[in-house]
Amino acid sequence: MRVEVTERCTGHGRCYSEVPGLFEDDEAGYGVVLGDGTFGAGDIEAARTAVHGCPENAVRIVP
Ligand code: SF4
Repeated sequence: MRVEVTERCTGHGRCYSEVPGLFEDDEAGYGVVLGDGTFGAGDIEAARTAVHGCPENAVRIVP
């Protein structure tokens, strides 16, 4: 599975603040995934935290 940040992102920063293991900020403060966003089963709760924490519904989990 992997996480993805869509064009809905407006840069609130919750994803990279709350789940720094999967996200970081770009030079403009928008959220981007680390690497290609792939994560293992052990990070599913962290990924869900990012999905539920994003005020813009910009984070999604792709199977
Ligand atoms: S929490 Fe959502 S809106 Fe904020 S930076 Fe992350 S993806 Fe973008």
